[in-house]
Amino acid sequence: MTDLGDGTRCVRAGLPEPAPGQPFLPGPVFAAPYHVDPWQGPAASPNGYGRPDNPTRRLLEAAIGELEGADCRVFASGQAAITALLLTVLRPGDTVVLPTDGYFPVRAFATDVLAELGVRVLFAPTVGPYPDLAGVRLVLVETPANPGLDVVDVAALADRAHAAGALLAVDNTTATPLGQRPLDLGADLVVASGTKALTGHSDLLLGYLATRSTVLLEAVTGWRTTTGAVPGAFDAWLAHRSLATLDLRLARQSANAAAVASLLADRVDVTGLRWPGRPEDPAYPVASAQMRRMPGVLCFDLGTADRVGRFVEAARLVAAATSFGGLHTTADRRAQWGDDTGPGFVRLSCGVEDTADLVADIAAALAAAGPAT
Ligand SMILES: *Cc1c(COP(=O)(O)O)cnc(C)c1O
Repeated sequence: MTDLGDGTRCVRAGLPEPAPGQPFLPGPVFAAPYHVDPWQGPAASPNGYGRPDNPTRRLLEAAIGELEGADCRVFASGQAAITALLLTVLRPGDTVVLPTDGYFPVRAFATDVLAELGVRVLFAPTVGPYPDLAGVRLVLVETPANPGLDVVDVAALADRAHAAGALLAVDNTTATPLGQRPLDLGADLVVASGTKALTGHSDLLLGYLATRSTVLLEAVTGWRTTTGAVPGAFDAWLAHRSLATLDLRLARQSANAAAVASLLADRVDVTGLRWPGRPEDPAYPVASAQMRRMPGVLCFDLGTADRVGRFVEAARLVAAATSFGGLHTTADRRAQWGDDTGPGFVRLSCGVEDTADLVADIAAALAAAGPAT
């Protein structure tokens, strides 16, 4: 389906062949064990037991796999997918490179668990410089990085990693597979949280890993079956149902982010604005070359925690919440979760509200928040 547009691919992704009397997207199949053929046993059907196999999950994996251009395995959360990657690929004595400015729990897992297991953990900022990759087993990057929204040239880093014999994995959470296709850029693996923009309704946790390597896919599948971090059938079905509108949701979120970014850029009382879609942004040259569309997330600084509180309280259309990529615009002061950011640093996730309403609301809320004190 590579000749079709994003909206068409999203609507059709992973759907079974039409069959009279059947729904477009089959409902969730709730089963721990399934009936097994009394003579052939599990050989007769892929469905034997719910941890390794579930047909609702397989349809979702087909859908996300089509969008990433690879085979896919879904997990109970993004963290489950990322830790599955790290623990499947890395062995004692191996070296991994992780982003200093990426998703905080990944760094915590690396320093708490991987280091204890004898894995050497190196850190590099998303924009670099990256250490000498000789002897490195895996490089994991986040681009755009959460929450700072820096971007790295995936194709150039893939070349460097491969020349050194390392694998390159890209966390594609912020961009989604419509925003960029890391495997086409040379990455070996994609991991992501589907909790964010991919499913976008703020009602479920999901993660996935995608790769074109059958060896890595088999290893990760085996890992998932033995450790058991699978999403339930209902969450998998909700996720698949939500995918159909991904193109529409991202288009509005991205348009809203563009409008909010130009509002904020003109204000002297807002500093540190980052949005990779703004030509003045340091990430723009690489982002505009390697990304197919810009995310609905931006970040900026209001100076103090108090001023962020006043801003969010005054806004009618901006909810105080963590996570991002949902239908509703949300603001998150990252320092309150322990992120290494300033007290007034805000990650703003634009929802699908009407652009004019959102811009007017944010302008009014900033005025109500008053100057930084
Ligand atoms: C949220 C997030 C994760 C973790 O995903 P969960 O679904 O919350 O486990 C990983 N990476 C990035 C970039 C994220 O934003």
